[in-house]
Amino acid sequence: MQKTLFSKIIDREIPAQIVHEDSDVIVIKDINPVAPIHYLIIPKTVVKDMKDPGFDARMAAIMVKTVQYLAAQLPGDQAFNIIANNGVAAGQSVMHLHWHFISGRNIHENGFLR
Ligand code: AMP
Repeated sequence: MQKTLFSKIIDREIPAQIVHEDSDVIVIKDINPVAPIHYLIIPKTVVKDMKDPGFDARMAAIMVKTVQYLAAQLPGDQAFNIIANNGVAAGQSVMHLHWHFISGRNIHENGFLR
């Protein structure tokens, strides 16, 4: 099977700005940020999206723990969004599950994310 863009980043075949990495996930800066902080939380095990049976309770827990880790690095009580696009019609462009972690942009002043 063809490697996904994110697997190539995980394997250091394509450069990226890595924010955090452990044995289960990598967190990178989005190349086209929509806010001052825009990270992608990517599991190292390839699953397509959140309805893929491979997205199991263990992986979900790892993703949530990573969200909490990143949120704890934000100054004060800074707000953030988690976005997961599932399927092309929903805006998913990379078919390797990832959650967008977005912060530092006030939705009430600037409107929704895109
Ligand atoms: P989605 O559209 O939900 O599948 O999100 C894919 C995201 O990956 C988009 O926000 C892109 O800006 C981002 N992206 C694409 N290529 C790269 C790359 N080489 N490094 C970092 N982010 C990327």
